[in-house]
Amino acid sequence: MHTTTGGTGQAWRESDNARRRCVCLAGVLLLSISVATAAAPKVSVATTPAQAGLVDIQTLVPDIALDIRYAGHDNFTGRPVPGYEAPKCYLLAAVAQALARVQQAMHAEGYRLQLFDCYRPVRSVQAFVAWAADLDDQVAKNRYYPHLDKRVLLGDYIAETSGHSRGATVDLTLLDCRIGRCEPLDMGTGFDFFDPSAHTDARRISVAQRAHRQRLLKAMAEQGFVNYPLEWWHYTFQPEPTPDTAYDVPVRGESS
Ligand SMILES: [Zn+2]
Repeated sequence: MHTTTGGTGQAWRESDNARRRCVCLAGVLLLSISVATAAAPKVSVATTPAQAGLVDIQTLVPDIALDIRYAGHDNFTGRPVPGYEAPKCYLLAAVAQALARVQQAMHAEGYRLQLFDCYRPVRSVQAFVAWAADLDDQVAKNRYYPHLDKRVLLGDYIAETSGHSRGATVDLTLLDCRIGRCEPLDMGTGFDFFDPSAHTDARRISVAQRAHRQRLLKAMAEQGFVNYPLEWWHYTFQPEPTPDTAYDVPVRGESS
């Protein structure tokens, strides 16, 4: 249903819904409806973060916490994802600046941001699709999709394109630093957990977990970030600086 991508530089359709998702948890009907009217974002020819206008968030916020899952083995594929050569977070400059303001506000209340994913290369999204098609590869099933048959993921849960590739979307959580050390707030599920309990407004979570999600939601909304309702961790800065352009620059340790 989401088939659109042939390779870098080719036209590929995308829905508004897919723009907000990273690993889609649901919303198949919405996606099916909107894909027919989707625009055709292009892939930038930029080969460096600087050419793409992407900045390393740590140049703006040195103490922001990073847990860039796709650069290591602790993600739903169980191994480093192609395109992630370093555990770094790049975002378009205006988005990074807005996120820095969120961190500043949270810091004043004793919290910090912890980032799971930021800008995501087009080649990484294509690697997700290839992984989803390999039904023999289930190494991370117990941690990330214990209640789902992997055959459901391709098409229904993993999109051929991602808003992350446009540099305005971030996956994150909050750390509680009021106790002398920083610990992640209990959000009810982990990042990229393929389950309805990951929906931001899920009912099957505790009052405290709901409050934690709402704290993150409020802080992000105040700086222009919109949550994807099916994933409590996924936010897109609106309006996007380059809504019709995706990037395919590898995530590396150097920012130029
Ligand atoms: Zn995401």
